[in-house]
Parts: sequence; structure tokens; C-alpha cells
Amino acid sequence: MMKKTVRDVEVKGKKVLLRCDFNVPMQDGKITDDIRITAALPTIEYLIDHGAKVILMSHMGRPKGEANMEYTLKPVAERLEELLGKEVFFTSVPEVVSQQIIDTAAALENGQVMLLENVRFRKEETKNEPGFAKELAQLGELFVNDAFGTAHRAHCSTAGVADYLPAVSGFLIEKEVKFLGDALENPKRPFVAIMGGAKVGDKIPVIENLLKKVDTLIIGGGMSYTFFKAMGLEIGTSILDEPSIDLAGELMKKAEQAGVKLLLPVDVVCAKEFDNNSEKKVCDRDQIPADMMGMDIGPKSVQLISEELAKAKTVVWNGPAGVFEMPNFAEGTKKIAEALANSQAATIIGGGDSAAAVEQFGYADKMTHISTGGGASLEFLEGKVLPGIAVLEEKE
Ligand code: AMP
Repeated sequence: MMKKTVRDVEVKGKKVLLRCDFNVPMQDGKITDDIRITAALPTIEYLIDHGAKVILMSHMGRPKGEANMEYTLKPVAERLEELLGKEVFFTSVPEVVSQQIIDTAAALENGQVMLLENVRFRKEETKNEPGFAKELAQLGELFVNDAFGTAHRAHCSTAGVADYLPAVSGFLIEKEVKFLGDALENPKRPFVAIMGGAKVGDKIPVIENLLKKVDTLIIGGGMSYTFFKAMGLEIGTSILDEPSIDLAGELMKKAEQAGVKLLLPVDVVCAKEFDNNSEKKVCDRDQIPADMMGMDIGPKSVQLISEELAKAKTVVWNGPAGVFEMPNFAEGTKKIAEALANSQAATIIGGGDSAAAVEQFGYADKMTHISTGGGASLEFLEGKVLPGIAVLEEKE
């Protein structure tokens, strides 16, 4: 199943409504990281170069359906102008689509660009109400979705507009679907998944789907302790997802039935307190002291995991192996990132914290693909249909 992209349709002279993910971090009205804007440039530039009239839309933050100027996209318009080296028409109107906006869109010349105000200034946006979707759609003749980070949400600007316009994907979504999709449907084997992070509960559906696909499943990070508990081990004061203990036990059984090798840490780095400067020590997983908590995987686990990764041909990684934000408990996560960086396998990093970790340790350019969507990539790995992708036309 392949989705049409901007390459598959005529864009010249057309008003193209392009949904981007410009949900950038801001501080005191300034953009602190513009990676989401630079990531959107290839599609925007393709459309400009091919003579489209580009109408950009995005959300930023959670203005809760009101025109809260704390969340205006004005700084994004300014940054875009710098990056594109050309004017980006932007007028902040609380209703997002007004007569003035309709007129500006209608008057665009080929290769010109405008940006709409934050679509979440309208309360209908997140409810996917047809009225607002229609207002947006009337501005353009073609809908292009390139906002992978919000593709798991059925909103007016991510899905609803496709009820009124032909819809294709931009290059970012194309890339996400290719790498995540290939890993799940057509992986080179051995296929190894590494799951980490704090809560098992959030990731159970992902683990269940991956158990049907992978050869080896490695569990690390905070969620290991719920599995340890399910194995009858004492975990001291380690993070525990109590309601998920039984499910963890069932997942272990399912792995066995599916013939999937399940690798849990064999040793952990423990600390007295959840603090970088806390007293720490390495212990085997069945020796966690009652007054300590597991904060990272230990060296024996790192060794086992590295050996497994060295054999892999495809690796999907979601969630850190420990509290990597604290330098004294970052080693396990760093070693996994290093093993992946040195691996010949296709390495796919699910968004969010593992992406942040890979960046932090300087291995980002060594990975095959780093997903730009946290929640969206998790839902993709869960095997769910993402509404913002489902609405796009299929290639014949
Ligand atoms: P998640 O959002 O579920 O992927 O969880 C990511 C968070 O899990 C990160 O902020 C880590 O600091 C945290 N984490 C990883 N390992 C542990 C651990 N052993 N104890 C507590 N938190 C952890």
C-alpha cells in the first residue's frame, strides 16, 4: 500500500494547502529549536519550485480553541522567511480563515507562500468539525499532509479537509511511512525491538503488536521493574506500574508462545534517591536492596543487549534504558545508542525520548531513520491506522 505524494500530482498553478508540524518549542516569544521547521522545508521548497501557490497550516501548543497570542505562529512565519529566503504572507486573525485570508490565498501567484494562524485557535479543529474543515478546504485545490507528529489525530487540518480536496503526502510523511512501514511489514531479519521508558501501561499495545513481528524483544528502562515484579522478584523502591503487573506476566507468556526471545536486564544500577548525585551501586536484578531503586541497566545487561544488536538486521528502538536525563544514569541508554550507531542494521528510532537520547549523545546522523512523531510513531508501531495518513490517496 503506497500513498500518493506531491510527486504524483500536478501542482503547478494550484493552490496547495500544506499541513506542517510547526509545533516548535518557544521561550519568551522566541523559537528555541527550529528542527520541525527545517524538516518541513523539502516539501515546501518542492512546491515552490514546481510553481504551486503554497498555503501553510499548523498548530502550536494547546491554545484550547481560543486566539491566545502566546501561541501565535508569527515567529514561525518570520523564521520561515529567513530559511526560505522569500516572503511568507502572514496575518494573525483569530478566526484563522477570514475574508482577508480568503482574498490573500486567491491572489497568490505561482511559487508564493502564505501561513495561516494557529489552527487550534478554532475550537472546531480538534473536534474535526466539518464546518471548519470546509473553511480551510475552500482556500485550496489540493491537500498535502506532511505533519507526521499529528497524523494520529483526526482533526480538521489533518484529516477533515481531505473530505473536500484530493489529498496526498509530503516528503516527511512519505519517509515515515516507508521506514516504519518497511520495518513492520518487511523487515530484514533478525528483527530486534528495544522498548524502554517509564510506564508499561502506555506501551503494552505496542509490545503486543511487536511480538507478532520481531525475533527478539529487549525490555529496558523503568518498565523492566513491572516485569521483574511479575517474575516474583523484589524491586525495592523502583518505579512500578502496579496495574500492569499481570499484563507483563501475560506478555512474557505470549513471547514464549510466539517463539520471540524476550531479553530483560540481568543487572541494574540502583540509587537511594531519584537524584543524579544519589549514592549508587550495581546489583543483579534479584539483589535490588529494599531501600534502593533501579535507575539504569547494568554492565552485564549492556553486554547482552550489545551482542543481540550486533546480530540484528533491523532494529526499532522506543524508550530509554534508564533515567538518561541524569548523567550518572545515562550510561545504559548511551551504550545502546552507540551499539546502534555502529550497527549495519536498519536502525529506526521511535520519536520522543529515544530520539532525544540519540541526539544528546551525538549519534543522530548514524541512524537510518529517526521518527519525528512521538505519539504518532507509537501508534504506527501499534499497528493502528493513523487518520492523517488514512485519508491520503493510494497510488494506482
Ligand atoms: P516514556 O515517556 O514512557 O518513554 O518514559 C521516558 C522516561 O522514562 C524518561 O524520562 C526516563 O527518565 C524515564 N525512565 C527510564 N528508566 C527509568 C527508571 N529506571 N526509573 C524511572 N524512570 C525511568
